[in-house]
Amino acid sequence: MEKKQFAVIGMGRFGLSVASALSGMGFDVLAIDANEQRTQAVSNIVTHAVSADSTDEEALRALGIRNFDVVVVAIGQDIQASILTTLILKDLGGPLIVVKAQNELHGKVLNKIGADKVIYPERDMGLRVAHHLTSPNILDYIELSDEYSIAEMRATSGMLGQNLKELDVRAKFGCNVMAIKRGTKMNISPTADDRLEEGDILIIVGQKNDLTKLELAYA
Ligand code: ADP
Repeated sequence: MEKKQFAVIGMGRFGLSVASALSGMGFDVLAIDANEQRTQAVSNIVTHAVSADSTDEEALRALGIRNFDVVVVAIGQDIQASILTTLILKDLGGPLIVVKAQNELHGKVLNKIGADKVIYPERDMGLRVAHHLTSPNILDYIELSDEYSIAEMRATSGMLGQNLKELDVRAKFGCNVMAIKRGTKMNISPTADDRLEEGDILIIVGQKNDLTKLELAYA
């Protein structure tokens, strides 16, 4: 399989983090930023780093942006530049376009103009931290849609010794246990007879309200 080629536009905190993570995973990464100091700073982390204004269609064309598999637009503050860049990328065609949104309205515009994926790093991280802070048994929380989420939850004392049938989160809370993590092992198709032990971590999917009820019931 050919190695995927990534371009990341905007070397702020988020863009830099994405670019260096991809690079660390062994992928080819082109980092683009209008600010030369920022591109200099990443030049020894990524495959290529260039200074260019991504709202300049010719500049993007000259960089052969169409040949990349994925382009991440990580321009945060300058919403206008983020939208224009996305529009140009969409017009040029080719890569999957992933864009960081600054707020809901920005996200809506990005969806309308054809961004393939819109991400809200601050909002999502805030949500995860809030869930973890309010119920320490929630280790992670991922929003799937406006309605549904996945929670990673530590088995609490009220759950220990029970099997999934006895726990019955499906009937009681309308949620589903998708997997159980035990140490380094992951049981991805738990059955009704699987009994919970101290240290187990449950991966549960459900409607947000139902997950909150479950969190509170076992807090
Ligand atoms: P973060 O919130 O992730 O730190 P910032 O908005 O602070 O993001 O940083 C965005 C980066 O994008 C900055 O380094 C800035 O120079 C760069 N940038 C902004 N506009 C453009 C543009 N039109 N072309 C290329 N890079 C840009």
